[in-house]
Amino acid sequence: MRVGVAKETAPGERRVALVPEAVEKLRAADVSVLVERGAGAEAWFPDIDYAEAGAKIVTASALYSQSDVILKIHRPSPAELKLLHQNQVVVGMLAPLLDPAAMAALAGMGVVAISLDAIPRTLSRSQGMDALSSQANVAGYKAVLVAAEAFGRYFPLLTTPAGTARPANVLVLGVGVAGLQAIATARRLGAQIKAYDVRPETREQAESLGAQFITLRSAIDGAGQGGYARALTPQEQAAQQDELNDIIASHDIVITTAQVPGRRPPVLVTATAVECMKAGSIIVDMAASDLGGNCELSKPGKVTITPNGVAIHAPLNLPASMPTGASAFYSRNILNLFLNFVTSGELRFDFEDEVTAATVITYGGKVVQEATRKLLQPASRGGAKA
Ligand code: NAD
Repeated sequence: MRVGVAKETAPGERRVALVPEAVEKLRAADVSVLVERGAGAEAWFPDIDYAEAGAKIVTASALYSQSDVILKIHRPSPAELKLLHQNQVVVGMLAPLLDPAAMAALAGMGVVAISLDAIPRTLSRSQGMDALSSQANVAGYKAVLVAAEAFGRYFPLLTTPAGTARPANVLVLGVGVAGLQAIATARRLGAQIKAYDVRPETREQAESLGAQFITLRSAIDGAGQGGYARALTPQEQAAQQDELNDIIASHDIVITTAQVPGRRPPVLVTATAVECMKAGSIIVDMAASDLGGNCELSKPGKVTITPNGVAIHAPLNLPASMPTGASAFYSRNILNLFLNFVTSGELRFDFEDEVTAATVITYGGKVVQEATRKLLQPASRGGAKA
């Protein structure tokens, strides 16, 4: 079996799906590896390193025509789709629930689509395959560095002959994987941190990393299914925004990470809250995308400076800005998932296995993964973009 590592073509993407150290592990499992020329260059993994690990460096067209399996980060672009062929396997972060029609199209082409973002995250054996967590971890770390770089003061308390600098007050809204790493990183830089999440179980996690947890008077319990938050009712959301407005105003840095699966991110930082912040304050909205963000004034992919001097950063792909570290993590995740399907150098899918049933989205010309299939039924057309 031949596995091909494609060069990512999405604008601004610098990561690569597989790093050279993983090539040897695939070869040890009787799998040969092709790498598209320059695939790892932007992440500082040169072709020579892949070649020395035993991979063959090829052009894009050779890669797509000769590989049985293509390893990627993003879902194939329209141009890449044209290069895929029947019975080829594509493994990546395919976001099947956000665009089930794209999965139906892959099924129609006879492509087997395997999505890393669909693994059951709470199974202990899937921890090493959890690319959502590994990339959120990178993003949470980088968000704090973005804020620190843009901030005009120190993060730590500093006592010097020239005076004392008080520590930055950092507020982290949304304490999932990214939020916890943001807390840990801001703490390492010496900031004072407060954190808030709508899932009560996050209190202990935030406190264990040195943040003070904020409990709102409205005491909303927003725990949903599978460890995720549920969408709040309009009344709950209004109460939450109202209370957060005052809290936000007293912070120098606000890092937001709140997401609800399959929904627009909730607005936690309103325009009114931004107006009340001091000049020089920084917001990093990690939830920003074309679907909106956690800050009402975020412009996806841009930095907005408000008339009262607040900088709102809305980065779209923080892991891509730390491509070497992010690729190394992603590579381990994709390797662990892929090797789960390999026996004696061949692919075998056991659909009784929870990881297989959750991550193999299309097979035998059909959409086989249950959650995606349900979205394609006539009553649910329109996907999960709500
Ligand atoms: P996520 O990206 O979906 O959301 C980030 C955070 O935003 C969550 O903590 C969520 O509660 C919070 N949020 C949503 N709406 C909010 C609101 N209105 N106000 C405030 N906060 C709000 O989450 P994630 O980081 O992908 O993690 C989701 C869950 O999966 C967590 O419970 C995490 O611990 C869990 N997880 C578990 C494992 C495991 O069991 N080993 C592995 C990975 C993730």
